[in-house]
Amino acid sequence: MFDERLDKMEEECGVFGIYGPGNDVASLTYYGLFALQHRGQESAGIAVTNGNHIKIHKNVGLVTEVFSEEDLKKLKGDIAIGHVQYSTTGITSALDAQPIVCSYLQGNIALAHNGSLTNAKELRNKLANNGSVFQSSTDSEVFVNLIAHYGQNPIEESLMKCMIDVKGSYSLVVMTENKLLGVRDPYGNRPLCIGKIGDGSYVLASESCALDTVDAEFVRDVDPGEIVVIDKNGINSMRILPKGKKALCIFEYIYFARPDSTIDGINVNYARYLMGCELAKESPIDVDVVVPVPDSGNASGIGYAETAKLHFSQGILKNRYVARTFIKPTQALREISVRLKLNPIKRILEGKRVAVVDDSIVRGTTSKKLVEILRKNGAKEVHLLISSPPVKFPCYYGIDTSERTELIAALKPLKEIEKYIGADSLHYLSQEGLYKAVGKSKGFCSACLDGNYPIPIPSGEGLGKNCLEMSNDKVGNHAK
Ligand code: SF4
Repeated sequence: MFDERLDKMEEECGVFGIYGPGNDVASLTYYGLFALQHRGQESAGIAVTNGNHIKIHKNVGLVTEVFSEEDLKKLKGDIAIGHVQYSTTGITSALDAQPIVCSYLQGNIALAHNGSLTNAKELRNKLANNGSVFQSSTDSEVFVNLIAHYGQNPIEESLMKCMIDVKGSYSLVVMTENKLLGVRDPYGNRPLCIGKIGDGSYVLASESCALDTVDAEFVRDVDPGEIVVIDKNGINSMRILPKGKKALCIFEYIYFARPDSTIDGINVNYARYLMGCELAKESPIDVDVVVPVPDSGNASGIGYAETAKLHFSQGILKNRYVARTFIKPTQALREISVRLKLNPIKRILEGKRVAVVDDSIVRGTTSKKLVEILRKNGAKEVHLLISSPPVKFPCYYGIDTSERTELIAALKPLKEIEKYIGADSLHYLSQEGLYKAVGKSKGFCSACLDGNYPIPIPSGEGLGKNCLEMSNDKVGNHAK
């Protein structure tokens, strides 16, 4: 399958949970997942408990494809969790979809996970040696089996013990028959926030845009290393000691998150605007018009144009109805798959020196096609401005960055990338500029930009295909 999304960093999942006795929790979760659809488009699932047992509906597809009104009516209960997923390997059956539901010593449990464990294989082997049975290859199933392994303890304590064993990146929503729990890894690598609905119901979500959708008021972000427990007694919290400095994925601000979300106190749209402002200070160029690549380039395009005092225009239209490009095009047809998503407006471009603002370049294939299309539509000059530093290193925390051998900035110096893409000039935002925009003191992971991996990566085992080419030593070398 050729998919233009492969030329972007891809988020793996979005999670949502609601403790809402008296509410239609399945429908609210459906709307919450719909708001998080940008975080994963390959599968969706909702699990609901009525206090006695857990019902689940999940399948391959978009939220609107997986759930009919009838499906939602069958999911009656007081607590629900939901999940949307993107997978590097492709999801072919409902078995790979989440939430995962199982029974253990304390009763029924459902779990949905965003992130990736760096010691998943090691833990899986240990658990399998002790008799655990696995149905899929997901890290999330490792979590569920670990919870069962510590099943003689109440769920909160089991989760605490799991957090000591697991390494990597995770935000979880977990549901028992009478509790909703939210867990954020000790580095806070993935976002997770808490909201409250007027009647006293609580909501957990990967992004605040999902809280807005279900009319929940933002309460706060879950802290790194925190377990939030929501039940009939209200909301309580437990914490494990931080394992290191906070390391929220900086790409949430660059590309993943929806611009209307606020994560750890920073509004995504404003962060992108400031990235554009910084880029204009670092790389002022003389052009007739600044055009953003929608949607993630919009705010930084405005920031760039305002700071550089240049004319801004939406010269590229995004087709809002294309979720995925399924057909495998020939080389000649690849342009069509770019055009399907991004179509230039000739009147705005014709005869102009154009600065195009995009959020990032991964392999460079889409940028190359885009520059070609802009020229065909009359642009006299095309200057590519990227509102993030070059992506040079793979991510081991659950983001699909492509392998290092496919990352154009890991392979070619700037001038060669510029030449490959066919732009008149190419400018990236510096890492200092990026930190000025988001505020470095907040604590970020920027490993794919600088090779400094904040969460330890054991060599080889359990890291998936990307890691096999890099031993710990090599990771250290990359960081230099
Ligand atoms: S390596 Fe990059 S994509 Fe992965 S968590 Fe860190 S900043 Fe995010």
